[in-house]
Amino acid sequence: MDLYQQLLQLDQQYIWHPYSALGSDLPVFPVVSAQGVRLKLADDRELIDGMSSWWCAIHGYNHPQMNKALEKQLQNMSHVMFGGLTHPPAVELAKTLVEITPSRLSSVFFSDSGSVAVEVAMKMAIQYWQDKQLDGTSHDMPDNRKSNQMPNRKSKQKANQKQKFLTVRSGYHGDTFGAMSVSDPVTGMHSLFNQSLAQQIFIDSPSSAFNDCCNERDINNLRSALEANHSQLAAFIIEPVVQGAGGMHFYSADYLNKARELCDEFNVLLIFDEIATGFGRTGKLFACEFTEIQPDIMCVGKALTGGYLTLAATLTSDEIANTISNGNPGLFMHGPTFMANPLACSAANESIKILLNSDWQSKIKKIEGWLSASLEKCSHLDNVEEVRILGAIAVVECKTAVDMKTISTAFVNKGVWIRPFGKLVYLMPPYIIKQQEIEILCNAIYEVLET
Ligand code: PMP
Repeated sequence: MDLYQQLLQLDQQYIWHPYSALGSDLPVFPVVSAQGVRLKLADDRELIDGMSSWWCAIHGYNHPQMNKALEKQLQNMSHVMFGGLTHPPAVELAKTLVEITPSRLSSVFFSDSGSVAVEVAMKMAIQYWQDKQLDGTSHDMPDNRKSNQMPNRKSKQKANQKQKFLTVRSGYHGDTFGAMSVSDPVTGMHSLFNQSLAQQIFIDSPSSAFNDCCNERDINNLRSALEANHSQLAAFIIEPVVQGAGGMHFYSADYLNKARELCDEFNVLLIFDEIATGFGRTGKLFACEFTEIQPDIMCVGKALTGGYLTLAATLTSDEIANTISNGNPGLFMHGPTFMANPLACSAANESIKILLNSDWQSKIKKIEGWLSASLEKCSHLDNVEEVRILGAIAVVECKTAVDMKTISTAFVNKGVWIRPFGKLVYLMPPYIIKQQEIEILCNAIYEVLET
């Protein structure tokens, strides 16, 4: 049996893949190496990567500068616990993240995956309101300006209840319990885990298109939800501008400007989940730069390490950090074993350097143009509902769900790596991709959807 078949057989026997059954007959393809924008399969076939390994590998694979930085860090230490110790890669990374994110965000909590960064954000919001109540300020009134009044008994009780989250449908924030509870109730597995999940409050996702003004109805929905629930709400959590895994939907940044005003009015924190959108993917370094506002808490992950290692971070404001740190128990209650792993922090430091030292804005603009030009023809296909493009993200939304069993193989046979879900065939290639490679990816989509 050759290596390819051997790997497949053992894989089928022992391994769970994401969202799949053990021994599933959905195809998996053994990869043995990757270089630039190409993945090499165990049978020597090469695939152009249209996925950046789920938004992460922005500089492509096996990048010499990334490799060198990691080899150097490996000589110093690959890991050390973060309780009671610190190290140069974490210090450098935290400083950089604070510098490149919105100015309100002034401190960093490291964790090991996007889902955990979201859990951390949710715990921060809950602890903040608990401590805020203890410090003698009132927060149940729908007006920030009243927050310096002394609490009465009633407001104390209400402030304690600020443990729920408001969010929009079609969102995705991860697979752990807290993150799952704020992900779309239909696609987010709520029916499976209903009895164990915290019940959150959902409103319709913003309906206005990316460049449009915000639809009044959406804002009225948000206002009504805040008005009715603010006394229970710790935060409004949302993916800014691009809803990723919940539907690849691009919406009006203006919605977020209005959301900020409303969150302030009703004393509800605003959490931006920039795990998918961060580090240039949308054409801005962070999608929140399309808005005029800043979140209170922001999560980053995925492309943070250029796709080399798993690392995420939750950033927060002085106000939240100080309130938690001066509250009771005066500690933020989270501490993952691999928190701020030095190798991962080094990868992140190098990846951010490579990105910021490149002319990434004009490269993303170019990719956006190439994607638009090469995918235009897909919009004329019978089974295509819409083609939409923002930065280095292209989505071909079909009218019906694609057949996962046949479509991945069809793409692999055309020499490309594209992994659709539901009705969505999408591309988010590494930023180093060339025009001709984009054309190959887009032609493959056209040809596969045409048949
Ligand atoms: N938030 C968003 C917006 C995401 O896209 C994802 C992952 N697709 C997550 C959170 C969860 O990240 P992870 O898979 O690293 O736990």
